[in-house]
Amino acid sequence: MNTSLLLQAAYINGEWIAADDSVAVDNPATGAIIGSVPNLGAVATEQAVTAAHAALAPWQALTAQQRADILLRWYQLMLEHADDLAALMTLEQGKPLAEALGEVKYAASFMQWFAEEGKRLYGDVIPSPSPDKQLLVSKEAIGVVAAITPWNFPLAMITRKAAPALAAGCTMVLKPANETPFSALALAKLAEQAGIPAGVLNVVTGDAVAIGSVLTSHPEVRKLTFTGSTPVGRLLMQQCAATVKKMSLELGGNAPFIVFDDADLDKAVQGAVFAKFRNAGQTCVCANRFYIHRSVYAEFAQKFAAAVAQLQVGNGMDAGVNIGPLINQKAVSKVETLLQDALDKGAQVLTGGKAHALGGNFFEPTVLSNVNADMALVSDEIFGPVAPLIAFDDEAEAIVAANNTIYGLAAYVYSENLSRIMRVSRQLEYGMVGINTSAISNEVVPFGGVKQSGLGREGSKYGIEDFIETKYLCVAV
Ligand code: ADP
Repeated sequence: MNTSLLLQAAYINGEWIAADDSVAVDNPATGAIIGSVPNLGAVATEQAVTAAHAALAPWQALTAQQRADILLRWYQLMLEHADDLAALMTLEQGKPLAEALGEVKYAASFMQWFAEEGKRLYGDVIPSPSPDKQLLVSKEAIGVVAAITPWNFPLAMITRKAAPALAAGCTMVLKPANETPFSALALAKLAEQAGIPAGVLNVVTGDAVAIGSVLTSHPEVRKLTFTGSTPVGRLLMQQCAATVKKMSLELGGNAPFIVFDDADLDKAVQGAVFAKFRNAGQTCVCANRFYIHRSVYAEFAQKFAAAVAQLQVGNGMDAGVNIGPLINQKAVSKVETLLQDALDKGAQVLTGGKAHALGGNFFEPTVLSNVNADMALVSDEIFGPVAPLIAFDDEAEAIVAANNTIYGLAAYVYSENLSRIMRVSRQLEYGMVGINTSAISNEVVPFGGVKQSGLGREGSKYGIEDFIETKYLCVAV
């Protein structure tokens, strides 16, 4: 790996900032310390916001094409360094190297997409109700944006925010997750090389609460975009209320995966393995509960458990590994607690069912049958490699069960009957529905949830709207 991308410093106003006090970052597969990043707090965050504010006017003064040219250089640099970025990600996050490489390309795709979209922020001329007025609408960058991002997608959750924000003419202060700051800092290094001016992108590492309180209260921060847990999202929303900041929130999910009796079961099994076990189950769109029609339940359960038993658990750096470690011991404990609760209430293990023999943060990919709604893992986001199976008898029952949650991010439906697909999809209270597929994310589609899964959409033509204001000009003529 090219170690010039392993930076143990924060990035504020175009300068790499070290600090005596630091936060160690470990490799979740081995426990080894990879390095450390500065443990910064309120003072550094204020400096970063000041820098982002100072950089705003000159960045906005560029044409959209000039900003696009810089973003496209950043995109090219990400692709040129894809192998190094992927290795760094696997080291600090644990996902298998092939998945990490997939994420680097996915993350880079937002740069290319929003470089283009930034050139299409059209306004309107509104037919006027009075002859002496011309009515114009323009789209303007919202201003300084704060971004707080999680560890499960250490690059893509940043570029999905930074690319539209910068393309629109905003500047940004980013606080990455303390588990995975190196991917964020490598990205900032490539931004610097691409020619992103000082202050346009700042990365502050360290004390989440101290950094978060400045980002949510500073009057020059006009918007907060956050991906993470629903409890932290609620807290940040409260904190932003005092200065009435605009917000985008990508929060938790509790995705139902519904298999009807008219589904192609082999396709459903394949989709279920991806929907549940990608990133060791640590994505907000991971299937959290599987509703299987009773007439195909036994066959699906047998095939699914057999496929899951084939998954190779290990260090993501090793060839052939499909499932890496969970991010830390806290995540392992959460999975163990939810699993034990289900077992105590009568669930049966079809495969897996315990911490992996490798020890550490490794957990066996697990399939449970005999699951019911009294078990906590049906309502709580598992965020780990456990798949609970529940039998249902009719369509209406499946829809009611699927919607019986505070969340509304992704849902999956497997059926070969078009009317059923349309009927069911319409009734699902979710921001995204995968139909006969669980690979739903890419840069051209709107990613986001309803209910307590969040606010706003990322990616697609809609994703840039979250970073622009609508200005109305009334011109007397
Ligand atoms: P997870 O449980 O997946 O780590 P969190 O919501 O706790 O999800 O974390 C997502 C991001 O939010 C991380 O960057 C984390 O450091 C940050 N974070 C957590 N708590 C706070 C807080 N009180 N204020 C600001 N940021 C926070």
